[in-house]
Amino acid sequence: MAKQKRKIKLKKRHLIQALGALALNGQLSGFVTGNIYTGAGKQICLPVLNCYSCPGALTSCPIGSLQAVANHPGFSFSYYIMGLIALFGILAGRFYCGWLCPFGFLQDLLAKISKRKLRVKVKYDRLLRYLKYIILIFLVLLLPAVLTNSYGIGSPLFCKYICPSGTLGAGLPLLLLTPALRPNAGMLLVWKVLLALAIVLVCIYITRAFCRYACPLGALLGLLQIVSFYRFSYNKDSCISCRQCLKVCPMGIDPMATPNSPECIRCRDCIHVCPTTSLTSSLAGKTLPKEILFVGGKSGQSDPA
Ligand code: SF4
Ligand code: SF4
Repeated sequence: MAKQKRKIKLKKRHLIQALGALALNGQLSGFVTGNIYTGAGKQICLPVLNCYSCPGALTSCPIGSLQAVANHPGFSFSYYIMGLIALFGILAGRFYCGWLCPFGFLQDLLAKISKRKLRVKVKYDRLLRYLKYIILIFLVLLLPAVLTNSYGIGSPLFCKYICPSGTLGAGLPLLLLTPALRPNAGMLLVWKVLLALAIVLVCIYITRAFCRYACPLGALLGLLQIVSFYRFSYNKDSCISCRQCLKVCPMGIDPMATPNSPECIRCRDCIHVCPTTSLTSSLAGKTLPKEILFVGGKSGQSDPA
């Protein structure tokens, strides 16, 4: 009997994510010439992981910028970046992870490759989720503030040794497009490519693995989510315990127990799938309609990411 082809379902959220990735990387000529855009847009940091050095990038990555100015004599720039992150985070927490971040979008697409998912044991999962805070504190804030060059610019340790978004979106395209850079590509590049490939592989079998365990920006926005104006609520009285919300969550959390968890990327899949409207959202105390962001897929479907 002929094997049935598996249909890959894309949600309307993915369309918004694709448009967001395109808008953030709108200098399309850069992908042909290898020239990086250096105009006024690069003064702006949006709360997503999108490398400054990506040939198409029109804005800066807040994590890259934070490392550079962690201990800069002109602290006003780091106040500006922290202020922007705080503003975005207090407004909507990790909403940007679920709807705008190009690396989040890539992870959602990777999750479509296989229906088989790995279940990380609860005790290991809990421990691993602390890793992103360790990365934030040591590789983004503390060590770059200590390891500065003669101009006071911090060493971008996260970008240099870890960031898979930088490797896939900037490092590899620039090496392909600019032969002059290739002689400088040594063991560091080998390490970064291997790490990025490992992260890609893991994200096929663990939805949003990088967001769950390693993203320092997600860690920062997650902490701000605790006081964010954008809130989720759970009504126990109307809940029929069908557990659909648990099945669809790409971050592997329980929205009934912790509707405002710092781990939640606000994808709204749980709200959409709930047959009894027991999960709702609000902005500054005003309840939002269930379909406000017209999330795709029919209620009752179980399709993480
Ligand atoms: S499914 Fe719900 S709880 Fe899970 S990440 Fe999306 S919005 Fe958050
Ligand atoms: S999907 Fe809705 S009704 Fe079902 S368990 Fe979750 S909150 Fe309760």
